[in-house]
Amino acid sequence: MASLPSSDSVVIIWFRQDLRLADNPALAAAVRKGAVVPVFVLDDETPGAWARGGASRWWLHHSLAALDADLRAKGSALVLRRGSAAEVIAALVKETGATDVHWNRQYEPWAIARDTRIKDALKAKGVRAESFNASLLREPWEMKTGAGGPYRVFTPFWRAAREGLGTVELAPVPKTITAPSSWPRSDSLTSWKLLPTSPNWAAGFSPLWTPGEKGAQVRLKAFLSNALGRYAAERDRPDVEATSRLSPHLHFGEIGPRQVWRATLASAQLSGTESGGDKFLSEVGWREFSYHLLYHFPHLPERNYRAQFDAFPWHDDEAAFRRWTRGQTGYPIVDAGMRELWATGTMHNRVRMVTASFLIKHLLVHWKKGEAWFWDTLLDADLASNSASWQWVAGSGADAAPYFRIFNPVMQGEKFDPDGTYVRRWVPELKDCPATFIHRPWEWPEFTTLKYPAPMVDHGVARACALAAFASLPKAEAS
Ligand code: FAD
Repeated sequence: MASLPSSDSVVIIWFRQDLRLADNPALAAAVRKGAVVPVFVLDDETPGAWARGGASRWWLHHSLAALDADLRAKGSALVLRRGSAAEVIAALVKETGATDVHWNRQYEPWAIARDTRIKDALKAKGVRAESFNASLLREPWEMKTGAGGPYRVFTPFWRAAREGLGTVELAPVPKTITAPSSWPRSDSLTSWKLLPTSPNWAAGFSPLWTPGEKGAQVRLKAFLSNALGRYAAERDRPDVEATSRLSPHLHFGEIGPRQVWRATLASAQLSGTESGGDKFLSEVGWREFSYHLLYHFPHLPERNYRAQFDAFPWHDDEAAFRRWTRGQTGYPIVDAGMRELWATGTMHNRVRMVTASFLIKHLLVHWKKGEAWFWDTLLDADLASNSASWQWVAGSGADAAPYFRIFNPVMQGEKFDPDGTYVRRWVPELKDCPATFIHRPWEWPEFTTLKYPAPMVDHGVARACALAAFASLPKAEAS
């Protein structure tokens, strides 16, 4: 391992959702200062209800292993500790004699509260604490409307956010990372038991995903060269591979939005696919907008953004909810999505909208139940994007789809999976069903021979019930 620099600074770099070496400003600044102690703390207490779900834990295991390998190649290593982050960081400062602690900012309300407490405690002990931005193009507090408040509507937000970004600067990748004179103790990653064992419900994840910074770079390059040109036209089609699948990499910070921004602009210019580039970057913009909303409206994961929805007559129907989670609703596009989620830890964006809408509007189950299920099963589970998206579908969020726009799951299937390729992949009971009937198999004369359920609710009836429930709400106050 590399030897100590002449400076006697020892800097703890506390990795969180920034599990990469490139464009990591907290790490780059630490390397400039002196010896570096890279640390990851598994803290299941502080986030409360928002501790990582099962799928996220699978990803985290592999991402930490990859980060450790990358650090070792630079003469360093990752120290793993478990427990309350405030206590662990304080203990590590003592053990290593650290003069500085660096981290890249998180924006979840619990993380902001925790980091503020830790910063104050470190400062009180004479330790320098510095935070940086590694995960957003724009800090949420930078972006203000003409009236000086936060944005509530995406289009003006994104117009203002992207203005003047140009070719954003990236923090350099450290050539080497100086080690401290002695290493603090580290837990072994396997002792954290982040991977499921019996049953190993994550067996289908490994062939599809390569967590870690290298996996993220490969994914971005493949997307830019194979799909960017088709993105604007095909991004809504779950039957074709037209999106980047970068979301878990972005969530864990194995790649940052500045890197995505630069690479996309360069690639779009080179290949003349500006419209694909614009559309793709505007989706990255929705991620930014979700963080903006979460920062300014920290109750977004728990409470309706539009208070009129507090009076919504939800059905607390556990049996219906369970059928939805298992992909047994009798609507093929919904069932395909829920089964894809379980098998692969992800679901196509269009199908996320359809399945979420079905739970909320056809079954009248509270969006928070769906949000929690996604939180546990999605590899990209992200407090900002998940809560903003669920509220968007429910109609209770900022700049949300109007409640009365109720997706018809048959028409959605026919429009976005016209041959039924996606449905057949995830609902093998329907593999022999002809394309004409694939999204309405109950009309197929041979339906009774299939081991597939009839629709659990009739679309027309469900739609009428949902509209009646919506009509019972008090009038919205102007937001
Ligand atoms: P691409 O189409 O390639 O988009 C590029 C990137 O832009 C994505 O990786 C993602 O970071 C961002 N992005 C795209 N669409 C959105 C969006 N609508 N909102 C916010 N960011 C977006 N995304 C998450 O990252 N985590 C979640 O927990 C999450 N929960 C969702 C729940 C519901 C009910 C819905 C409707 C959407 C949710 N999304 C969530 C947003 C979106 O579905 C995923 O980001 C997208 O499907 C990821 O696939 P991709 O990387 O191929 O996206």
